[in-house]
Amino acid sequence: MSETASTRTVLVTGSSRGIGRAVALSLADAGYDVVVHCRASREQAEDVCREIEAKGRKARLLTFDVTDRQAAREALEADCEAHGAYWGVVLNAGIHRDAPLVGLEDDDWDSVLKTDLDAFYNVLKPVLLPLCRKRRGRIVVMSSVSGLYGTRGQTNYSAAKAGLIGAAKALAMELASRGITVNAVAPGLIDTSMVSDEERERILPFIPMRRAGRPEEVAAVVRFLLSDDASYITRSVIPVSGGL
Ligand code: NDP
Repeated sequence: MSETASTRTVLVTGSSRGIGRAVALSLADAGYDVVVHCRASREQAEDVCREIEAKGRKARLLTFDVTDRQAAREALEADCEAHGAYWGVVLNAGIHRDAPLVGLEDDDWDSVLKTDLDAFYNVLKPVLLPLCRKRRGRIVVMSSVSGLYGTRGQTNYSAAKAGLIGAAKALAMELASRGITVNAVAPGLIDTSMVSDEERERILPFIPMRRAGRPEEVAAVVRFLLSDDASYITRSVIPVSGGL
């Protein structure tokens, strides 16, 4: 019997709010079960689980810091052991700590690289073997237009998000023959709590569409990349940026 969305489970890291939450809810609408994930905002993540269940899909919550390799490995190996391999992984959790490089603190550099780039290894390594054994699946990483073009005041974030694109493209090469696709989505300015009012006003004039994006507009692209319709798309980066 061919596998349908109703038997597929997708892990979405950082799905307690913002883009990750929108992705998790959109996937539930499409018939996927969802593994919701966060580090600290457990109550918000539990709300997301309840919203998914209200849509008639299954949800379970994992909480770990994506920078903690051991914690990620233990949580993910145990989850795959108990429930089987995921259909897909959306590597979405991320932070930014902006300042011109001359004024950047050590911790601003380290925390952004650890959260946004090291998570590629920390989260994907434990789930990859089960995925490979199934010889099917989808991986989507949340990059940024900053990773494509570089953004003033974001050397750390641009480095991490560009690194993610390189890693995703390399992994796509490694997994293509196994029927597993790996792609990146590169959002521009999206209305979430990550973006301050000051940042929003500063960036808006540079956006050809003259507005910020909605988390749901990013989620729609992720949902497509996870679907059967995207079966021949791999090693690609799709901007969702209003032309920024
Ligand atoms: P939010 O700040 O709204 O949400 C971030 C999510 O990531 C939360 O669920 C948070 O959980 C989780 N998270 C952060 N750090 C960690 C960590 N160390 N371990 C585990 N979970 C963590 O962000 P957005 O929704 O705006 O952004 C989502 C992704 O999209 C990020 O990768 C971001 O870089 C990218 N992006 C966003 C853009 C935007 O304009 N908003 C533009 C381009 C890219 P908790 O609260 O529990 O820590």
